[in-house]
Amino acid sequence: MIKTCDVLIIGGGLVGCASAYYLARAGVDVLLVEANDLNARASGANAGSIHLQIPHHEFVTLGESWANNFAPVLPMMLQSTRLWKQLGAELGRDLEFSQTGGIIVARTVEQLDLVRRKTEIENKHGIGTQMLTAAELKSMAPYISCDMIGGAYCPDEGKANPLLATSTFADAAKRHGARIMIHATVMALKTTAGGFEAKLHSGQIRAHRVINAAGADSGRIASMLGLSLQIDGFPLQVSVSEPIEPLVRHLIYSAAGKLTLKQMKNGTCLIGGGWSSRQLPDGGLAIDPDSLTSNLETAIAAVPGLQSARIVRTWPAIVNGTTDWRPLIGEVPRLPGFYVNMFPWMGFTAGPISALLTAELILGRKPSIDIERISALNG
Ligand SMILES: Cc1cc2nc3c(=O)[nH]c(=O)nc-3n(C[C@H](O)[C@H](O)[C@H](O)COP(=O)(O)OP(=O)(O)OC[C@H]3O[C@@H](n4cnc5c(N)ncnc54)[C@H](O)[C@@H]3O)c2cc1C
Repeated sequence: MIKTCDVLIIGGGLVGCASAYYLARAGVDVLLVEANDLNARASGANAGSIHLQIPHHEFVTLGESWANNFAPVLPMMLQSTRLWKQLGAELGRDLEFSQTGGIIVARTVEQLDLVRRKTEIENKHGIGTQMLTAAELKSMAPYISCDMIGGAYCPDEGKANPLLATSTFADAAKRHGARIMIHATVMALKTTAGGFEAKLHSGQIRAHRVINAAGADSGRIASMLGLSLQIDGFPLQVSVSEPIEPLVRHLIYSAAGKLTLKQMKNGTCLIGGGWSSRQLPDGGLAIDPDSLTSNLETAIAAVPGLQSARIVRTWPAIVNGTTDWRPLIGEVPRLPGFYVNMFPWMGFTAGPISALLTAELILGRKPSIDIERISALNG
């Protein structure tokens, strides 16, 4: 059977479903296809952090030149937090978004100095991170370990619930007329006189334009059209504790080791920070016990009150990544009508703005922010 649409979106994660919403809201004929269930990959398995600070581990390991190259992306993420703020009211559902502020804590003078240098770059790009003395840290977050000698605070950071956002965008897109097919895998894609044709088990889809929102699989989708994009999948893991009494008021990071830590509305604490899981020879994923131990040690070193909380689940998932951490957003110059919408590593934070920008480009509107300097598609 042959279906037709103006815009075919490949991928039903946060980015694909939000793109479907922004386009359908503007009256575009949208068809989204998802190989699994909606939100079954990174968008539904992430740690729910709304980030603005440059990741500390990468600042240390990749260096200041990497951070300076990445930093023009920060205003885009800031713009996404502004969208997040209004999404609950706009889409008609509480997405448990809250701007609690994020704090990175440091245990040594060397760590604190690195945090200061990182903060200077963030400030240059409009992120209002402020250094904290030990006394300021204690007064702002008394639950942080007394071993920490200071840190930095970013007021616009926070959290949202990854189990709610994608389906809420999808429902809103459907209300505006978007069609969504699940268990519909694009197996092949080719250009035609009128645009593109996708081959699925259930038949063909002809579209004038295509958005590649396949996350870690975006490179594979692009290769169907002979295009080489440097996008990969990396196995990570996150843990969740049992619900505990209110304890962790902020999004917590540590300069002493990889950590993101936050307490959700239901009292559970989500603990992650980019620790890798294991990829099995058959392609499946498994928890890495060493990563789990190190992640929990870093969390307890920052917030000793977590010591008695039991971990109820740890899960692995693949994150979409690029080596320079820059997003790939926009129309591919040599393939008119083929758009890539891929925000790596922190795509939960940036999913809404990434989708809005792509929709604006497709609608021929001026993008809300200048993506020329941001997207790696532009060199
Ligand atoms: C463990 C973990 C923790 C993370 N923590 C955070 C965090 O705290 N904050 C943050 O900002 N970011 C975080 N991220 C990153 C974030 O989750 C992702 O960057 C973001 O969800 C990517 O969204 P997406 O819609 O592009 O991709 P995905 O959610 O991966 O969706 C892509 C979809 O495309 C579908 N697809 C692929 N191939 C095909 C095909 N051939 N046909 C049809 N459909 C196809 C897939 O099935 C998938 O559902 C984390 C990621 C992981 C894995």
